[in-house]
Amino acid sequence: MDKKIMIAIDGPASAGKSTVAKILAKDLGYVYCDTGAMYRALTYQALQFKIDPTDEQALVSLLKKMELSFEPSEKKQKVFVNQVEVTEAIRQPDVTNLVSVVAAHSEVRKELVKRQKKIADQGKIVMDGRDIGTAVLPHAEVKIFLVASVDERADRRYKENLSNGVNTPLDTLKQEIAERDYKDSHRTVSPLKQAEDAILVDTTGLGIEQVVQKIKDIIAEKVS
Ligand code: C5P
Repeated sequence: MDKKIMIAIDGPASAGKSTVAKILAKDLGYVYCDTGAMYRALTYQALQFKIDPTDEQALVSLLKKMELSFEPSEKKQKVFVNQVEVTEAIRQPDVTNLVSVVAAHSEVRKELVKRQKKIADQGKIVMDGRDIGTAVLPHAEVKIFLVASVDERADRRYKENLSNGVNTPLDTLKQEIAERDYKDSHRTVSPLKQAEDAILVDTTGLGIEQVVQKIKDIIAEKVS
């Protein structure tokens, strides 16, 4: 693909956004940006420094001192805060269960959206999150809204957790996913919502390769 485009992938928790976005970026030779990792990294730092997740100003001060960087890797993309690797730490349940509270603050979002726009500046980007098509890259050429049933998403997260040595009961995961979706969709600032010009892709019952192919077909149609 010669044309440099921006690809925005949004959707609820565990819909497969990052897995699919990472493969797409690799196949297209694009940069991949996992914006969820940025909100998770801030939440992790807040926990480390015992900062109240409802204290917006304290979170913003912390964020201003945080250098966030990414490094591509075969498995998960590596995430660093001030040069210290936090890839695994930001996926732990304590961070997952608090991240929506941290992400609801408008000043936190303003700062992270600014950084996300900068990363996307050069084009050739696949970015995933909750508000990419609506707020971060409203002019993205391709916008995908990825969904799957709660049951299937909980099942995927369950298997992913097991492979990382985390054993949370399936029912608990289902409840946590539903709660996070509710919080992300009902916050005042940039709630999780399908952009008007986004294409809905339901991944229930589909394998990763099938989802990637569907999105590649959508890209090909949009670009031609
Ligand atoms: O994508 P992931 O599940 O890692 O995102 C973690 C959390 O970060 C989400 O549940 C949401 O609260 C927040 N988030 C957000 N906006 C984004 C990406 C993530 O609010 N663009």
